[in-house]
Amino acid sequence: MEPKLFIDGAWQSAAEGAAIDVIDPASERIFATCAAGSATDIDRAVAAAKRAGQGAWGRTTGRERAVILRAIAAGIEAEMDALARLEVRDNGKPLPEALGDISDAAYCFNLYATYAEALDAKQGEQIAVPDDRFKTTVKYVPSGVAGLIVPWNYPLLMAAWKVAPALAAGCTLVLKPSEYTPLSALELARICHAAGVLPGVVNVVTGYGQAAGARLATHPDVRKLAFTGSVPTGIAVATAAAKDVKSLSLELGGKSPIVVFDDADIEQVVEWVMFGIFWNQGQVCSATSRLIVQSAIAGPLIDRLSEETKKITIGNGMTEGVLLGPLVSKTQYDKVLAYIEAGKREANLVCGGGRPPGFNAGYFVEPTIFTGVSPDARIWKEEIFGPVLSVAAFKSEDEALALANDTEFGLAAAVMTQDLERAARVADRFEAGVVWINCSQPNFLEPPWGGMKHSGVGRELGTWGLMNFLEPKQITAYQSSDPWGWYLKR
Ligand code: NAD
Repeated sequence: MEPKLFIDGAWQSAAEGAAIDVIDPASERIFATCAAGSATDIDRAVAAAKRAGQGAWGRTTGRERAVILRAIAAGIEAEMDALARLEVRDNGKPLPEALGDISDAAYCFNLYATYAEALDAKQGEQIAVPDDRFKTTVKYVPSGVAGLIVPWNYPLLMAAWKVAPALAAGCTLVLKPSEYTPLSALELARICHAAGVLPGVVNVVTGYGQAAGARLATHPDVRKLAFTGSVPTGIAVATAAAKDVKSLSLELGGKSPIVVFDDADIEQVVEWVMFGIFWNQGQVCSATSRLIVQSAIAGPLIDRLSEETKKITIGNGMTEGVLLGPLVSKTQYDKVLAYIEAGKREANLVCGGGRPPGFNAGYFVEPTIFTGVSPDARIWKEEIFGPVLSVAAFKSEDEALALANDTEFGLAAAVMTQDLERAARVADRFEAGVVWINCSQPNFLEPPWGGMKHSGVGRELGTWGLMNFLEPKQITAYQSSDPWGWYLKR
């Protein structure tokens, strides 16, 4: 069957009729195709979104939108298993992780349903001004057509993080998923339609970044751009947004530190360090990929870490018990292996270091640990986005913080210690948008999410995520019967 785009409430052929092969990263076999949307398709989708925003959807209350959001959540929940299996084939991640993603996506729609309802109560709230001849209120109006561009590491979840707040705010949208993992976004379009989303409110255009993505970023009728992806693409999107003064939020890369003090419980540290770098094959923006460990416990910690890392079951994400699947694509596989080769020249390889033995197909990479990594090494400075941990040792708290903050990124940081005063002090001094104490990666949808420095602009999730898609409008009324009396003197 010809792959289609979802535009204006209907499945439509791509204008240029081109298609993209979708590859199962565990087998390297093509298992689906998606349409390669072009600038023309983006133009049609944006036009549909603009029309829909001017129609009935633009007049809905938050309470009415909450009904739709909850129906989308229910639609996702009803297909949890099938969606998770689709995500495994598309992305490679182990099935339990994919099930967690889909469950979180449904939770996200339910959460933004409550925020949409709460928004009604905030509409028209009065702001105290120091002149009682005036009455000032604030209304929150949708930003307009939102362009949503997402990556491949959590395909449906990253889409949900944007689609749910955009709909809660009353925006209409065009979603452009990654060309590597386009399938669950198309399922989301179908679920939204079945949930009663009006035609044109949600449009999904699959396609390459350079074509469909770039047009979405530059389209003059897109008033809000929400982007998640790499720093170079984020800069291209931000440049396009600046030229047209679009509202912008960016969720970009990271090279997050996990600082371990010598009073920390080694078994807990091993668990969280592994979770912080091997979960989702290390393809996590906030992965704690730099372990900064106090010298006194470096030896025993690395021994335990490498012992447990070697036990990780690698395989097809569909196989029970597998904890590490393949990387998403050949491109990512080649990139990660090139970093591992650089690491072998720059540092000491403790475990892993390449393709796991016995795997003839699939983009599999062993979980890999390097020690003695210098702050100048590429594997210390650059985002690898794979299961590769770089370790360096420190003596003092100041030295640990200097190492932790010496990075262009500022997405996340973690500290492990039993001294909670020290943990609080270190948390304050981390230059990062998200800080974890005695853990790494737990992610709730209510707090703000986002990074400092090159890790991004703005915050997603929670009510911060909702505000991304709203324009606060000030309405000030002169309510005195006295004349203003500046020009017209009595
Ligand atoms: P990417 O930048 O290559 O692609 C992201 C999206 O942008 C894709 O949909 C792609 O098609 C599109 N795109 C590519 N070129 C474009 C262009 N010129 N104009 C508009 N769109 C374009 O990133 P990726 O490889 O898909 O994802 C990995 C990156 O995402 C990593 O750097 C990771 O850290 C980051 N990420 C960040 C977060 C976060 O919350 N901060 C979350 C997930 C991933």
